Amino acid sequence: MKPRDRLRIAMQKSGRLTEPAQELLARCGLKFRQSRDKLFCFGEGEPVDLLLVRDDDIPGLIAEGVCDMGIVGRNVLQEYQYSHPEAGVALDELRPLGFGRCRLSIALPQDEPYDTPAQLGGQRIATSYPGLLGEWLRSNGVDAKVVYLAGSVEIAPRLGTADAICDLVSSGATLVANQLRETAVLVESEAVLAGPRDLPTDERGEIAELLLRRLDGVIQVRDSRLILLQAPRNALDEITRLLPGLPIPTLTAVDGAPDQVVVQALCAGSVSWRQLEDMKRAGARDMLVLPVEKMLA
Ligand code: ATP
Ligand code: ZN
Repeated sequence: MKPRDRLRIAMQKSGRLTEPAQELLARCGLKFRQSRDKLFCFGEGEPVDLLLVRDDDIPGLIAEGVCDMGIVGRNVLQEYQYSHPEAGVALDELRPLGFGRCRLSIALPQDEPYDTPAQLGGQRIATSYPGLLGEWLRSNGVDAKVVYLAGSVEIAPRLGTADAICDLVSSGATLVANQLRETAVLVESEAVLAGPRDLPTDERGEIAELLLRRLDGVIQVRDSRLILLQAPRNALDEITRLLPGLPIPTLTAVDGAPDQVVVQALCAGSVSWRQLEDMKRAGARDMLVLPVEKMLA
């Protein structure tokens, strides 16, 4: 294969991860021009191109070196690693991306009691994730029959082709609609940036480093809020303890009110109404919670 001097990232062509992945790359300052066949997007600013594919193909494309990185669900990455152990060891989860959250779970018919994995022994479990399910069954010492289904896994128990399922769950509405109940979680999943365990050492490695740094900045900003509030000095300790993520606040004196300070703090994660109300009870007032657009230390 001809060496490449541009970084190539694989992402889902159309599906749940497409829009948030595009948005994330845009926030990293990447712009693309789509080819006519809509499979390839040429990067206009940085030397980073996109390949738009089915999500299931992404780990294999990275393992084969067709792409350098990919945005894919942890569930799909790990399934590839368990079902292709030789190629899979070369892959790594480089960053969790915080969207596309879901769980890979075992679900049983609603009226079926569940206590431990052992009771799944001898049962037929339908799944599109035979690698992950097989690994979970092995590590729990359970001998069950894995029935592979490419889709519509949730109707298998009603059709009588399986006794249980192992499938992705987010709200749980699909399970309820099929009279199933979530009983064990195998993987807490979200979209991840997948890549080779060892980044390329040529120019692509430098582009990859640049992208990772920007990504870290974007993720940090996205998950940050700036809190501004005014408080009596004697309530500062308690209010500081209530700030989400326990940041070290910056204090500013208030003219004409020596017992008051303005507190400014960068908090990790969102700030709930309840947290604001707790701070108000502790003496804070004039509270403002602001999103952060860019950050450079
Ligand atoms: P493709 O055509 O690319 O194969 P797909 O049907 O396999 O598409 P989607 O349904 O778009 O894929 O899901 C992509 C990913 O979104 C999943 O692998 C998973 O990581 C994540 N996801 C988040 N919530 C859910 C959910 N409720 N059901 C399924 N996937 C979810
Ligand atoms: Zn898929």
